[in-house]
Amino acid sequence: MNADLERLIALQKLDSAADAARRTLAAEPEHEQALAARLEAATQHVAAAKEQLAANKSARAALEKDVAMHQGRLSKFREQGMAVKTNQEFQAIQHEIAFAQAEIKKIEDAILEGMMESDDLASALKAADAQLVAEQKAIDADRRAMTAAHGEMQAALERITVERAALIAGLDKQVLATFDAVSRKRNGIAVAEARDGVCTICHVRLRPQVFNTIRRNDSILQCDHCNRIMFFVPAPAAAAAPDASPQPAS
Ligand SMILES: [Zn+2]
Repeated sequence: MNADLERLIALQKLDSAADAARRTLAAEPEHEQALAARLEAATQHVAAAKEQLAANKSARAALEKDVAMHQGRLSKFREQGMAVKTNQEFQAIQHEIAFAQAEIKKIEDAILEGMMESDDLASALKAADAQLVAEQKAIDADRRAMTAAHGEMQAALERITVERAALIAGLDKQVLATFDAVSRKRNGIAVAEARDGVCTICHVRLRPQVFNTIRRNDSILQCDHCNRIMFFVPAPAAAAAPDASPQPAS
C-alpha cells in the first residue's frame, strides 16, 4: 500500500477516536444533569409519600376529635333524658341521641377507611424509600463509571495528540493539506473505504476505472462526489479500516 495512504488511514482512525472521546467528554454535563434529575425524582417521590401519610394521620386525628365531641353530646343528652318530664321532651332528646349516634357511626366508618388507606400509604412509602436507595446506588455506580471514562478519554486524547504528530511528520505536505481540507468540509471524516464500486460514506458509485485504481491502494484518489480519500480493503478483509461509521454522510 502507498505509504501516505496507509498513514492517512491511521490518521483518520486517530481523528475519529479523538472525536468520539471529545463527544463523550462534552456529553458529561448533560449526563450528570440526568443523574441528578433521577435522584431528585426519587427523593421527591419519598417526600410525597411521607406527606400523604402525614395528611392521613392528621385527618384521622381530626375525625377522632369529632367522635369525642359527639360522644360528649350523647352523654349530655342521656343525662337530660333521665330528667325529662313530658313525652314531647323525651321524643326530642331521643331524636338528638339518634342523630349523635348516627354521626358517630359515620365518622367511625371514615376512621376505619382512613386506617386501611394508611396501611397502603405506609407500604407506598416503604417502596419509595427502597426505590430511593436503589436509585442512589445505581447513580453512584454511574458516576464512578463516568469518572473512570473521563480519565480514560483524557489519556486517550493525550496519546492521540502524540501519535498524530508523529504520523503527520512523515506525511507528504500536499497530501496532508488535502486531508485537512476534506476533513474540515466533511465533518471530520476525510478517508473512506471504497467497496463494490461505491464510496461507503456518500454511497455514490465510482467510475469503474477509478475504482480499479483505488483497488490497488497505490495512490491518493478522492471520491468524485464527497472528495474523501479512498482506500480498498481486499477480501477477506484483513487490512485495518478506519472507524468511519458514526458520522453521517454529507
Ligand atoms: Zn464519497
